[in-house]
Amino acid sequence: DARNPGQPEFIQAVTEVMESLWPFIEANPRYAEQALLERLVEPERVIMFRVCWVDDRGEVQVNRGYRIQHSSAIGPYKGGIRFHPSVNLSILKFLAFEQTFKNALTTLPMGGGKGGSDFDPKGRSQGEIMRFCQAFVSELFRHIGSDTDVPAGDIGVGGREVGYMAGMMKKLSNRADCVFTGKGLSFGGSLIRPEATGYGTVYFAEEMLCHAGRSMAGLRVSVSGSGNVAQYAVEKAMALGAKVVTVSDSGGTVIDEDGFTTEKLAILMDVKNRQYGRASDYAKQVGARFEENVRPWHVPVDVALPCATQNELDESDARTLIANGVKCVAEGANMPSTIEAAKAFEAAGVLYAPGKASNAGGVATSGLEMSQNAIRMNWTRDEVDTRLLQIMQGIHAACLQYGKRKDGRLSYVDGANVAGFVKVAEAMLGQGVI
Ligand code: NDP
Repeated sequence: DARNPGQPEFIQAVTEVMESLWPFIEANPRYAEQALLERLVEPERVIMFRVCWVDDRGEVQVNRGYRIQHSSAIGPYKGGIRFHPSVNLSILKFLAFEQTFKNALTTLPMGGGKGGSDFDPKGRSQGEIMRFCQAFVSELFRHIGSDTDVPAGDIGVGGREVGYMAGMMKKLSNRADCVFTGKGLSFGGSLIRPEATGYGTVYFAEEMLCHAGRSMAGLRVSVSGSGNVAQYAVEKAMALGAKVVTVSDSGGTVIDEDGFTTEKLAILMDVKNRQYGRASDYAKQVGARFEENVRPWHVPVDVALPCATQNELDESDARTLIANGVKCVAEGANMPSTIEAAKAFEAAGVLYAPGKASNAGGVATSGLEMSQNAIRMNWTRDEVDTRLLQIMQGIHAACLQYGKRKDGRLSYVDGANVAGFVKVAEAMLGQGVI
């Protein structure tokens, strides 16, 4: 705490990982040599910078930009850019730390990083968004590159914003290599990248359920959020025969006992991705109930998929879900459950997947986008989707391999943390003290 004052999210993420790792390191003390753990919790580099731009009224705005280059032990730094007023050093350091383990789990050669700004895109015009993205990259460009650091999207940064940033990068660097992932299809993007995080989360939930002798088909599912991850989690859960009864945003929760349909999902995507509207607007359009300032966790379901943001599901939410009979929780968002909530799920025997395992499909497909760019080829939808499914199955298998506790119970939290750690640790030990 003394080294990282005012960084509660970063300390929360490190605590969760260290609690998992401790028994493993006691049994394998060579992983505590050469100050490995001390090095692992210190980002390789933190960049903070001024971003100034001119709004539509002609006024100068000043925001703060960040890039956390956490670990390059197994490849170029890789992780998304977040634009949200809550962005600060603690949140981005936690995300970059988590990303390092997640990227290791994918088995693709990617290090860990994260970046963003406290810029709030809500209510901003297209021109303002573009000027902000360009101003952000006018500093970031000197720190990133296709073999150095490869950013992507995250909260508040979708295909449009990635496109503006990739365009500015090209102009400033005078190079056409592909430095961002999540790009548009016409300039190096990969099929299935927009779908990948949501699809991957549902693939992972299905793996957990199958391993426990069940399946998604016929189950009731709640999803939080209504952005990129949430939308494709809804789509894939429906495709596997589940009934999705909620989505949400920062204004509240849509509860639809009739369940989502393909038509309703198309309306949600139009409201969110084209009109930049609210979940309440969507609820009105489809005649569903909307509960203001409420999260979805009081709705009884078999499967919960938190896909909005960090710490959106606390211990009391977890107890409500458990009391209502939840069987499986797979995180589409990063660290949506508090440590206490995660412990409550595991203690109750709920199949609980931490984000670094279940939402790794997004960055994995970004890795596949990098591969396609490097060989200057595009793979088909089926080819990318098949690889995504295989990667999610591989992560599930790694969790089984490393997640057995002394009492014989399976912990996906321990499995993901230890499996990710072993890969990063081996790479760090092999490359000496740097
Ligand atoms: P989007 O910006 O597309 O959607 C975010 C959604 O979460 C929106 O519905 C938003 O509501 C809601 N939300 C954001 N902040 C808050 C908040 N403080 N309180 C309540 N609701 C909030 O982002 P993504 O879907 O891309 O990301 C969602 C989560 O998934 C994040 O945790 C992200 O880190 C994680 N993730 C994303 C990946 C990706 O590929 N995009 C990959 C792996 C993880 P509102 O519109 O009202 O703000």
